[in-house]
Amino acid sequence: MKTTKLESMIYNEISSMYHISKKSVAPIAIYIRENDIDYEFPSDLVAYMKNKYPGYTLEHILEVYIRYQKFRKRDISDLDRARELNLREVKIKTSEDSRICFNCEKHANKIYKIEEVPELPLYWGCRCYYEPQVT
Ligand SMILES: [Zn+2]
Repeated sequence: MKTTKLESMIYNEISSMYHISKKSVAPIAIYIRENDIDYEFPSDLVAYMKNKYPGYTLEHILEVYIRYQKFRKRDISDLDRARELNLREVKIKTSEDSRICFNCEKHANKIYKIEEVPELPLYWGCRCYYEPQVT
C-alpha cells in the first residue's frame, strides 16, 4: 500500500511539466523517511551516485532518478513526433556547457537516422536531447 502511494508520487513527478529539483522531490523524500521505506533504486544508479557524489542525499538520488525518467519520456515522444512528421534524421544535442562528459561529447551534433540513433539519455546524468532534422 505504502509502495503504491510512493510509486504514484514518483509517477506524478515524472509526468509533471515542471523542472525537477531537490525542492520538488522533497515531499517524496519526506514520505520515504516518515514511512521508513527501503526504496530500491536501480543498482547502476546507486553505483553512479556513489562514484560521482559520495555522501549524496536521498533528495539528490531522487532528483537524478526522476530527471532521467522525465528526459526518457521526452526523448521517446520527440522521436515519435519526428516519425509522425516523416522526418528521417535527428541530431544529438548536448547541453553545451562545461559539465558535458566524454560519453556525450562523442555524439554531440552528430546526425543519425531515427532507427539508428542511440537511446537517450546516454547515462543517469545525461542531459542530451534530440533535434529533429528537416531536410
Ligand atoms: Zn548526454
